[in-house]
Amino acid sequence: MYDLIIIGGGPAGITAGIYAARQGLKTALITKEFGGQLAKKAVDVENYPGFEKISGQDLIKKFESHLRKQDIEIIKKEVGKIEKKGKGFLLTAGNDKYQAKAVIVSSGADPRPLEVPGEKEFIGKGVSYCSICDGPVFREKTVAVIGGGNAGFETAMFLSNYVPKIYILEYGSEVEAHKAVQESAENTGKIEIITNASLKEIKGDKMVNSIVYEDLKTKKTKTLEVKGVFVEIGTQPATAFVKELVDFNERDEIKVEPETCETRTPGLFAAGDLNIGKYKQIITACGEGAKAALAAYEYIKKNAK
Ligand SMILES: Cc1cc2nc3c(=O)[nH]c(=O)nc-3n(C[C@H](O)[C@H](O)[C@H](O)COP(=O)(O)OP(=O)(O)OC[C@H]3O[C@@H](n4cnc5c(N)ncnc54)[C@H](O)[C@@H]3O)c2cc1C
Repeated sequence: MYDLIIIGGGPAGITAGIYAARQGLKTALITKEFGGQLAKKAVDVENYPGFEKISGQDLIKKFESHLRKQDIEIIKKEVGKIEKKGKGFLLTAGNDKYQAKAVIVSSGADPRPLEVPGEKEFIGKGVSYCSICDGPVFREKTVAVIGGGNAGFETAMFLSNYVPKIYILEYGSEVEAHKAVQESAENTGKIEIITNASLKEIKGDKMVNSIVYEDLKTKKTKTLEVKGVFVEIGTQPATAFVKELVDFNERDEIKVEPETCETRTPGLFAAGDLNIGKYKQIITACGEGAKAALAAYEYIKKNAK
């Protein structure tokens, strides 16, 4: 029986792990992999204090190395279920079961899918949710990025290192990326922005060869020949395994007490991108991981002896 189990190896979970170990809690951190969204970030992080410019991959390596210096058990698995058991919790990960007095869920968010015909069929055959993982494969090919927010533009900027031409398709009448991000992307000279574009289908044979979209202004259907489609339309909380024990808001984010990150189930905390917190950033995820670990420590001291 652990005092505390933390789920997730992103900024929230890692920070929670460091704090929990320093409070002397017998802690396990269970994660599919380290890094979360940060590991897949295509351009440098420039807003985490202490590092004026650092790649997401390097920052997360530093986080992980800090965590590994603590007295904490690290288990590389995917948690499939959390149940209430007596005063504590029972977690299932693969064929294994783990028990803890308190749990912090910090499983972050997954890319939001497009849900158009062809998307599922061509995953790994031209459809990608991670430019840093897959970008180099599209060397010298024309690609499309779906989504005109910061993530879409950053993805296009990263892809411009490899490909000659990138379409950015934005559903709205204007792109949402910050001006500075837009300018850097446009300076590459390789990007064509198409607004009022509603993606209808991804087509191909063995691999993607085109996309079909509706021009929402003219109502005409158009086709673009592309070999890659990078999906950047936001994220959705990764919370399926905990849904019986928490309440959600209309965006499927877990409702928590802002001061402690505690959910409606006493002893179950939710920190980072998966909760109702408005600003989803590395530093806010770290802050919530710290809060949740300290609150879990107090909970364990008071309730779970
Ligand atoms: C493209 C992009 C660019 C960004 N750029 C910036 C930036 O420049 N600056 C900034 O401050 N923020 C940025 N962000 C936001 C930042 O990355 C997130 O706010 C932050 O990563 C959230 O951390 P988290 O720990 O809550 O979740 P995540 O980073 O999503 O980590 C979740 C972790 O949980 C694990 N996990 C998920 N499900 C399970 C399960 N069932 N069992 C076990 N483990 C599981 C995952 O493997 C992962 O390790 C960016 C995000 C994106 C998508």
